[in-house]
Amino acid sequence: MKHLSLQEALKKYFGYTSFRPHQEEIVQYALSGRDCLVLIPTGGGKSICYQLPALLMKGVTIVISPLISLMKDQVDALRAAGLPAAALNSSLSEDESMNVVRDCLNARVKLLYMSPENALARAQYLLRDIEISLFAIDEAHCVSQWGHDFRPDYMQLRRLREEFPDVPMMALTATADKVTRLDILKQLNLRNPKVFISSFDRPNLSLSVVQGLAKKSKDKMILAFIREHKNQSGIIYCLSRKLVESTSKLLSENGISCLPYHAGLTVEMRTQVQESFIHDSVQVICATVAFGMGIDKSNIRWIIHYNLPKSIENFYQEIGRAGRDGLPADTLLFYTYGDVIQLSNFARESGQASINLERLHRMQEYAEAVVCRRRILLNYFGELSSENCHNCDICNNPPQAFDGTVFAQKALSAIARTQEKVGYSSLIEILRGNYSSEIKLKGFDQLKTFGAGRDVPAYDWHIYLLQMLQMGLFEIAYNEDNHLKITDQGQDVLFKGRQVSLCVVQRPVEKQKSLTKSKQKELPFSVVEQLDKSKSGKEDEDLFEELRLLRRQVADRLNYPPYVVFSDKTLHEMARLKPLSIDAFGDVPGVGDFKCKKYGHEFVAMIRHYSK
Ligand code: ADP
Ligand code: ZN
Repeated sequence: MKHLSLQEALKKYFGYTSFRPHQEEIVQYALSGRDCLVLIPTGGGKSICYQLPALLMKGVTIVISPLISLMKDQVDALRAAGLPAAALNSSLSEDESMNVVRDCLNARVKLLYMSPENALARAQYLLRDIEISLFAIDEAHCVSQWGHDFRPDYMQLRRLREEFPDVPMMALTATADKVTRLDILKQLNLRNPKVFISSFDRPNLSLSVVQGLAKKSKDKMILAFIREHKNQSGIIYCLSRKLVESTSKLLSENGISCLPYHAGLTVEMRTQVQESFIHDSVQVICATVAFGMGIDKSNIRWIIHYNLPKSIENFYQEIGRAGRDGLPADTLLFYTYGDVIQLSNFARESGQASINLERLHRMQEYAEAVVCRRRILLNYFGELSSENCHNCDICNNPPQAFDGTVFAQKALSAIARTQEKVGYSSLIEILRGNYSSEIKLKGFDQLKTFGAGRDVPAYDWHIYLLQMLQMGLFEIAYNEDNHLKITDQGQDVLFKGRQVSLCVVQRPVEKQKSLTKSKQKELPFSVVEQLDKSKSGKEDEDLFEELRLLRRQVADRLNYPPYVVFSDKTLHEMARLKPLSIDAFGDVPGVGDFKCKKYGHEFVAMIRHYSK
């Protein structure tokens, strides 16, 4: 066999035409037999880093993975590409395990996925009897107590290093701050490791936030959003089970294919929901944060947060599940005062109040941003970024600042006149001059400021007050019925002429328009780059739909998730290039040798028929 270059091997086995940043360097490094730590964000393409070396080296690469569902997905994807992979874990029967072991001993497996327990239990016999080319430790942050997913069995993995001192080790993770990184190196006892860090940026994810909507308006906006994303898989994250259930019901009643997911369901039901989503037989999942861990589905096209997440880490992990195939995906976050109250309460009761409140505060900063949201995210993860992204609502529709000193004075003075014994919604009622029963009961209608902000709609007050809260002009006394207290800065506004700059309120309707408009805008170069620019041609959208159906049929027949057969990106390329021969089909980015042989005829026949 002729010696393949790494590029050629990548195309042959995986169908990709070029490496993503760092992949080639890492593959080369692994082939040289040295230890390394790989930090690549979710969807960045970690798997290739050890899968390609595994195929090119003599022996078997052992991949340590914490979850059976993750192993299954990876092994399915490799097998669907005709690559010799297997998993050993507690879900197999004794016979099945025996078969896998036999295949390993007979060198019929190049990639063996194992749980940490399993690897350690078999360290003495199986692993001694086969030639191991590399240990790849996936989700390596699980080894560190500082990481967010510590697993004691991961800590034992250092024994592999002791027992197999000559086998190189590659640790991989998507989320590890500095402390966790150092801890991974130490815990796994990596030798003189090189650390590869890829940017955390996910330029294909659009970012947008809508503030201050009442439930009804949120629901309306969600329905419109999903109509805009016809046939596209997505997740709606809700803060509570109750909200999951009611939102899911609402969508179903509106003819949207949707299932709920939360910890209150039985394990079987949860597995079923997850499978339906993975196999594209349900479009939308309404879920609590319990959903998503261990899901490798690459064609999730959008994420909605019904409520504010409790930290930027959580938020980034959740939106990170969209667009793993590198194609554009949309994210939408709703943010209300009610969320702030509820999450603050959770944080204060959490036992780590100050850290958690600080995290929540940073999350609020993101939601209140008046500069590019992506810059805020990247800066949060320690990547300094000075350029606007052109793929967030702020970049597409920059907020206009105005002198809001008078508004701030009215609000603060109203708080002062209640002796700081007023909550958020009553404050808005005072400003608007609404005679609600609560207002009358407390005599707030007698205040001098009653009705002083009549000319500003309630929704706008809501937004302005959120802005003032975030600026620190007043704070919430959680131990006093959530009453509002004026801070020193607020006093300066009231009594020392301090100026306040506010941002003009954007109506949700305008916002929605700008969201749709941004679709037509040029996406950043880095997003488009991955579509093969050398060949031109516009995609045929009807053909794409047909290809999607065919993919689903093929996948169902083989019992694979559709994206394992071909990714969305590959289908888009097919719809653009319309290959009419097997050779041309093999040239489509994302089609490797094996898939070309296995699926080529069926797909080419369909495209031919369609093109007639
Ligand atoms: P991670 O494990 O880092 O989350 P994966 O390894 O699952 O990411 O890869 C994410 C997606 O990117 C997959 O759909 C994969 O097929 C695709 N991918 C990876 N490397 C490349 C590449 N060099 N070219 C095109 N697509 C790639
Ligand atoms: Zn931006």
